[in-house]
Amino acid sequence: MTYVVTDSCINCKYTDCVEVCPADCFYEGANFMVIAPDECVDCGLCEVECPVNAIVSESDLDEAGRHWVTLNAELAAQWPRRTVRGEALPDADQWASVSEKRPHLDHAPGDTVGDAVT
Ligand code: SF4
Ligand code: SF4
Repeated sequence: MTYVVTDSCINCKYTDCVEVCPADCFYEGANFMVIAPDECVDCGLCEVECPVNAIVSESDLDEAGRHWVTLNAELAAQWPRRTVRGEALPDADQWASVSEKRPHLDHAPGDTVGDAVT
């Protein structure tokens, strides 16, 4: 089992989560963070740190939400690891209450994600 980051993080990226992770398994994109599922030790420490409740246990995802596990895995393999907290994105507070942010996910040039998650 793993925890994964979901769309509430997009355009917020508060980074409160990264410093509590004992496995250093957060990876950073331009406007989103992801967890490497194969590195997560399922401790749950990050879930309560996220101010926008973006982090969820894989076991709490319904069928429609399963694509977040695939997306986290694919992007974690392409993005750099992040272990230190920093500034949130400039418009984070405005985006914090927006739902369904998946279309706003930025991919760096060269990122590839599977058809099932685009
Ligand atoms: S604390 Fe939440 S919003 Fe911030 S980077 Fe982590 S998952 Fe994203
Ligand atoms: S559940 Fe634990 S190991 Fe997994 S990403 Fe969160 S803090 Fe890291």
